[in-house]
Amino acid sequence: MPTMRSPACLWVLVVLGVVVRPAAGHADERAAARRFAAALGDEPALVAFLRAFPKGADLHSHLGGAVYAEDVLRHALHRRLHFDPLTNLFATKPSARTVPAARLLEVDRLRYQFLDAASMRGTRPGPAGGHDHFFESFTPAGSARRGVPPEELLATVLRRARLQQVQYLEIMAPVGGAALDRLTAAAAAGVPPAQLLARLQPSIDAYVTAARADLDRWDVALQQALGLSAPPTTVGGPITVRYLVTAYRVAPPEHVFATFAAAFALMRVDRRVVGANLAAPEDHPVALDNFDRHLRDLDFLWRRGGEPSVTLHAGELNLHLAPLEHLTHHIRRSIEVGHARRIGHGASVGWEDDLPGLLRLMRTRRVAVEVCPSSSLTILGLSGERHPFRVYRRAGVPLTLNTDDEGVSRSNLTLEYLHAVRAFRLSYADLKELSRNGLEHSFLPGESLFVGGDYRRVRKGFEQLRARGWRPTPEEQRALGRSERATVQARLERALWEFERQ
Ligand SMILES: [Zn+2]
Repeated sequence: MPTMRSPACLWVLVVLGVVVRPAAGHADERAAARRFAAALGDEPALVAFLRAFPKGADLHSHLGGAVYAEDVLRHALHRRLHFDPLTNLFATKPSARTVPAARLLEVDRLRYQFLDAASMRGTRPGPAGGHDHFFESFTPAGSARRGVPPEELLATVLRRARLQQVQYLEIMAPVGGAALDRLTAAAAAGVPPAQLLARLQPSIDAYVTAARADLDRWDVALQQALGLSAPPTTVGGPITVRYLVTAYRVAPPEHVFATFAAAFALMRVDRRVVGANLAAPEDHPVALDNFDRHLRDLDFLWRRGGEPSVTLHAGELNLHLAPLEHLTHHIRRSIEVGHARRIGHGASVGWEDDLPGLLRLMRTRRVAVEVCPSSSLTILGLSGERHPFRVYRRAGVPLTLNTDDEGVSRSNLTLEYLHAVRAFRLSYADLKELSRNGLEHSFLPGESLFVGGDYRRVRKGFEQLRARGWRPTPEEQRALGRSERATVQARLERALWEFERQ
């Protein structure tokens, strides 16, 4: 949290080109805080307040889990697939067991059965939370959307984000899907890293070409679907999206290696992909056995790949899912060996070795935690004081609010803010900090609009940013042109200004 500064310090900051804003906030901010306080006792009013509240970013969103089961059912109907009530899977060809997808519109029981199987609508929470049902839901949902172009799913997700004043998304999406499958298939087991990388190079080059063609196609489709004047991967419009490439920790380790190698090669030449992640159940026996290997490989590739941005799911565990020895080091090693700049979930942090030292490390390196309240509640059964939100916050570790799998969880970013407000008793100032953290800890390139992560300290040249009718001067325009991060941050600041004046 910001600390008070002496007048001498203030003078030094002014000389250094830093503008210090009063912590108490201006009249409009205080009015917004009063509206927030009034809405707290009345859930529909709180929903309306939080939906309109400008939210900096959703940094943790899996495209496959972001669409609702109803969305994928619509795709299955459109493509006239066939539904197997025994397995809850859709197939392209009929069999003795299947019924046409259209039957799900006529027979409510069949439709509810599919929607329950393909999302947390039908979860039966057990002692481990809804973990099992959550991860099982991807198979039926995936069978219904197989073959649907990713840009169609992305358009759905971006439209919903715009309805909630989300400024920026970093989505884990299947960039270059088929080419990535060919690349991982070419990765042989038991080959030393340097040799494997050299052997894979032609396939990596082919992947980069195919992935960039995908990104070009997505740009055109999304611009058209959303009615934008430029593709949403640019920073000039009302919403910006960038992509993360995801490796799957239950796949053979050489596949994980190839995926990270491909992601880093792509990031070097295309700004639309800003980072890499490692997903799938962390407690799976294959994931646990290969945990160290994944991080070692990541370390090898990261050093050779120009130190690209990495975020890692880590500590999405509890003792119902894995024994203690796996809970003691996943977060720390993901940072120290895997070079994670952000940690997804970090839920089991209380079991880590040397907790104070780990929290210090995260604060010092400014490693942010991607908090996903609905997901942690439904998968791990974490809410209120069982969630480590306040442990991180007290230690000064930056936090962000995210959806994880908004479709599967039957949620959205507004509801994640609402859950956080309720569970962690947040103030309006806390909300603003969390919203701004989404951009401060995004992987967008360029200098921040703020100095040292302190939102009271705006960089020189942007003193008028929060003034009525602000339009960037030519000098400000040039400065923003040098930083995509600052451009989206400026958009958020203006959106907050408008919101607070309502
Ligand atoms: Zn996730």
